[in-house]
Amino acid sequence: MGERIMTRKADKGAGVDTVRLELMLSDLRLPTMRRHCTAFAERADREGWPAARFLSVLAGHEIEERARRRIQRHLSEAKLLPGKTLAGFDFGAVPTVSKAQVMALAAGDEWLDRGACCLAFGPPGTGKSHLASAIGPALVENGRRVLMTRTTDLVQRLQTARRELALEHMTARLDRFHLLIPDDFAYVRRDQAETSVLSELIPARCERRSLMITANQPFPEWDGIFPDRTMAVAAVDRLVHRAAILELNAESYRRIEATRTSRRKAGRPARFATAKNTAKDKTGTDGGTG
Ligand code: ADP
Ligand code: MG
Repeated sequence: MGERIMTRKADKGAGVDTVRLELMLSDLRLPTMRRHCTAFAERADREGWPAARFLSVLAGHEIEERARRRIQRHLSEAKLLPGKTLAGFDFGAVPTVSKAQVMALAAGDEWLDRGACCLAFGPPGTGKSHLASAIGPALVENGRRVLMTRTTDLVQRLQTARRELALEHMTARLDRFHLLIPDDFAYVRRDQAETSVLSELIPARCERRSLMITANQPFPEWDGIFPDRTMAVAAVDRLVHRAAILELNAESYRRIEATRTSRRKAGRPARFATAKNTAKDKTGTDGGTG
């Protein structure tokens, strides 16, 4: 029994057909093992590796490659803001925010395991979206799934799902993300869109998974977001329970940068000496307002 397998590539006398081996690994959907098997087989023969070592080296490559691709996939699905990193964030410009706390959020699996929330408040341009986005990559590298979305887009998608009787399905899909980041929460208006989907999502989500919300307005003004005051109170209640709160009570970083740029152009020293980072990526777009 058993057909005689002839070696077509470098036959070291073991009678193994490496071309066929590659095909089998392909069939088994082990592309990295397939790519490396011939080279490692030759090396194993040359160096006299035990069979188990050969197999485990190949399997190790497959696993590593899969992990790398998974992270790539999860980074691209996260829809984080490009170029907004923690290294590029000037904590000196927002003294009310603790750098240690933000670093812990980025490093920490613990708050995600607890399904805790994080809320970032502050006027426009103070870096809420930047910070929310910047903690994402580290979490993804640690094997977590993150999704950042404008709250208005999220509401629209939830409403569409509800119309199509697929709200439960969509909620389940959102649950696959360890962290959901609805950006610009307070931009949603109940007269602009029927936002009861949000007041359903938040309590349900808070039971299971984490949220990081950025908003220009603090809680008392959230009445306008939810269909009625009771719902607003209920949602806020769920959110603040075990939440980390980042208050960005600072001047708009955009304005600081614009002032700095215009002063530089005028040859005067910058007034805001705290900023170490010149955020070159945006000085050109913000322009100077003299
Ligand atoms: P917000 O979401 O609070 O309105 P953004 O996060 O969009 O503000 O910040 C506005 C711009 O200023 C972005 O380009 C952001 O990268 C930059 N920025 C804001 N705060 C800082 C900071 N502390 N350090 C570096 N860049 C900042
Ligand atoms: Mg923002």
